[in-house]
Amino acid sequence: TALTQETVTGLARQVAVPSYDRSRLTAGIVHFGVGGFHRAHQAMYLDRLMNAGKAFDWAICGVGVLPEDVRMREALTAQDGLYTLVLKHPDGTLEARVIGSIVEYLFAPDDPEAVIEKMAGPAVRIVSLTITEGGYNIHPVTGEFDAEAPAIRADLEPGATPATVFGLVTEALRRRRERGLTPFTIMSCDNVQENGAVARRAFTAFARLADPGLAAWIDGNVAFPGSMVDRITPATTDRDREAVARRFGVRDAWPVVCEPFTQWVLQEGFTDGRPPLEEAGVQVVADVEPYELMKLRLLNAGHQALAYFGYLSGYRYVHEAATDAALAAFLLDYMDIEATPVLRPVPGVDLDAYKRTLIERFSNPEVRDTLARLCAASSDRIPKWVLPVVREQLAGAGEVTRAAAVVASWARYAEGVDESGEPITIVDRLADRLTAIARTQHRRPTAFIANREIFGDLAEDERFVAPYLRTLESLHTKGARATVRELAEPGR
Ligand code: NAD
Repeated sequence: TALTQETVTGLARQVAVPSYDRSRLTAGIVHFGVGGFHRAHQAMYLDRLMNAGKAFDWAICGVGVLPEDVRMREALTAQDGLYTLVLKHPDGTLEARVIGSIVEYLFAPDDPEAVIEKMAGPAVRIVSLTITEGGYNIHPVTGEFDAEAPAIRADLEPGATPATVFGLVTEALRRRRERGLTPFTIMSCDNVQENGAVARRAFTAFARLADPGLAAWIDGNVAFPGSMVDRITPATTDRDREAVARRFGVRDAWPVVCEPFTQWVLQEGFTDGRPPLEEAGVQVVADVEPYELMKLRLLNAGHQALAYFGYLSGYRYVHEAATDAALAAFLLDYMDIEATPVLRPVPGVDLDAYKRTLIERFSNPEVRDTLARLCAASSDRIPKWVLPVVREQLAGAGEVTRAAAVVASWARYAEGVDESGEPITIVDRLADRLTAIARTQHRRPTAFIANREIFGDLAEDERFVAPYLRTLESLHTKGARATVRELAEPGR
């Protein structure tokens, strides 16, 4: 059966469907970047509230600004905003639910004025974002908003019709100020460290270039709460579409698949109210940073601990690496002995349970996350996720054996040849340079970590260099499996 508002109640025998009357919903949220993640996360939390009879004035109007978003407009419009969310349990069970919280979808290139007016109307009180890391238009080298990007320059031309999220949102805020309306909250849900602060920097920088008076008003009146979001949501494949049709009898142009785990820690402080998200399982807190550090240093750094050792051991999927006994023991030791001491207290989280759940999540064979994905962009990931643990541990005279080993496994991986002599495709903006350096480390073992741009002065700290060299040497002489086994041995 094709999924539409008309057919959805008839599907209730096969799949969970909205229990609420969707005709009573009004859009209080405009969301930019309706992709897989938003539909597995924020839209799901709102659907939960609505199923409990709450938040009827917080339905979502989705917006796409990129040309390729025309596909999402077609899929969602034909289905009255409905779609199937499928949780993939580790034992192969699929758990499906039709989500009803998205009530409208606007494709900005067709009608930018409609998008602006939607946001400028009194019903909308939150503009939320999952526009990807790149969407904030922050220059990778300067760390500042990139005013020279062509799309930004075009939006800043006098009399231009806004086409970017910055142009559209700024114009809507200008109209709200003119009309004496409270500004909406801008809520970033992207996987960006300090995403609230980054969103504030980007939007106020754009506004400053367009209208400095408006920029000051935005900076003073718009809230940009930060958040920590977590739910592995791979891109939907044709196999997923077929599975939804076969298992649940639903013909859905664009279902979403994800892991069962989900987490959302959201900073308090909205300009004009918010849905009662805590009633749907969201942790609303004063300070997101401790939760962010927990995720970066356990989940993200933990991924890196598996990635290179796993790949060099001959695995290709994350679940294969996470279910290797020695690698799992190594990962747990890294988390317990080196990462946990440099976390802040995380209210409401049982860290031991969190770590156990992480290993379970990594071990889920249904998610089919690849080690190659985790190995990509290492030169961005290792400095953000692993090196801060090394530095803080050194500052507190703590252990760094395992974190140093992870760095060594990256250095070995960066040579671009695996243990059977097969080439490795290195996906990294610095790939050529890193590979050239890594290939000299047989002669000069500290070559890789001498790169100050990435490692600062870590190569001068013997407490880091000694375990790093031990692991690198072992990787070269004994290989990854034996190295991990030795690292995981108790008493090392
Ligand atoms: P996706 O490819 O399904 O969707 C990306 C969306 O971002 C699209 O709607 C696209 O139009 C929009 N977008 C991209 N660049 C943009 C720009 N410059 N301006 C405006 N919109 C833009 O990806 P996804 O899986 O939904 O992930 C989106 C983001 O969500 C990620 O980048 C990440 O920050 C966050 N996130 C994802 C996951 C996950 O597992 N997929 C987990 C946590 C957080």
